Amino acid sequence: MLHKLEPQSPDALLALIKLFAEDERADKIDLGVGVYRTDDGATPVFRAIKQAEAKLLEEQDSKSYLGPEGDTDFVDALVPYIFGADLAADRIAGMQTPGGTGAVRLAVALAQKAGVTRVHLGVPSWPNHKQILDDVGLETVTFPHATPDGDADLEAVLTAIRNGGEGDAVLLHACCHNPTGVEYTQDQWDRIAAALADSPVLPIIDSAYQGLGQGLEEDAAGLRTVLARVPEALVAYSCDKNFGLYRDRVGAFFVQAADGSDLPAIMSNANALARANWSMPPDHGGAAVRVVLRDEGMTREWHDELDSMRTRLRSVRDRLAAADNEVPGLDLQQLGRQNGLFGMLALTPDQIAAMRKDHAVYMAGSGRINIAGLTRGNVEKFIAALADVTA
Ligand code: PMP
Repeated sequence: MLHKLEPQSPDALLALIKLFAEDERADKIDLGVGVYRTDDGATPVFRAIKQAEAKLLEEQDSKSYLGPEGDTDFVDALVPYIFGADLAADRIAGMQTPGGTGAVRLAVALAQKAGVTRVHLGVPSWPNHKQILDDVGLETVTFPHATPDGDADLEAVLTAIRNGGEGDAVLLHACCHNPTGVEYTQDQWDRIAAALADSPVLPIIDSAYQGLGQGLEEDAAGLRTVLARVPEALVAYSCDKNFGLYRDRVGAFFVQAADGSDLPAIMSNANALARANWSMPPDHGGAAVRVVLRDEGMTREWHDELDSMRTRLRSVRDRLAAADNEVPGLDLQQLGRQNGLFGMLALTPDQIAAMRKDHAVYMAGSGRINIAGLTRGNVEKFIAALADVTA
């Protein structure tokens, strides 16, 4: 019976990693995988996390089961960062999940259980969004996320929300949009929140990069704007980028209910879904984040680390934007206005292939680049390669 299974196409980015590893050119550049890199090209464990792990090693006295909700102190420690000081605390509850992916999965599965059948999604998006929606059995309705000029397509998202009805949800990126880097401005978030306030469409907000865009508070402003205007919303959160915990799979799912008295029933459904999917989230990374956030010194260290990551990403973006006239065939200026780890280059498939073949520059077939893959040591080579393939 198992022989009937059709082979699935491999994940394109994972295939790219393999090609990159096999390339023997010393000056090869990896702009594929979505992880932060230092100016030396490393993806180190955060200093704050190292300290927290040392403390855990010393103090942790049990690895007994916790439960589907995971480490509730970890979840509580995230709340002020995500929801801010004006949160509707009595209407919000959360639980730990295996990464932001688990949180997205839980959010859409719960939405479906509550009666959602269609999800509006700005495209391009993180490819796993559509894959998860398909797997859960929800219909995806797409709208363009960005305009060709590299700004957000506000009218498209507003139209999706205004035309949506009961049983519809909209999946929004809180900040640092993957793959475009195109965020909504505060004014645009205000208009999106106003449209959602007048609509039965359920907002599902995916926050996977808080602190990597414009700052911890700034990157949460859009999410908070929406939550202040709508009765109900779901939030999927990842700590894998902003604590550098990628493989430890650290995330959380939150719900804002119309009324606090709805929370126990809602969370009992989320618990049941978690139990059937993964039973419980892995503990270690969430425990380390909890230790960091409960300690002033480690928290300060974490803020400093995030600040320097953001500053580095900004300086790479500024260099690329300034190279706009060196690459006449492309609009590089827009990268300077955008935020986070990613940006899209309007290259043809042939040009992307030439980047790889002629210049050992590895980027996704969509034209997405990981800004953090560029360093002082390779950014000039990258700009020259772009000028060459677009000439
Ligand atoms: N949402 C978006 C938009 C992402 O880009 C990612 C990570 N690529 C995730 C969620 C999931 O992150 P995690 O690694 O924590 O599962």
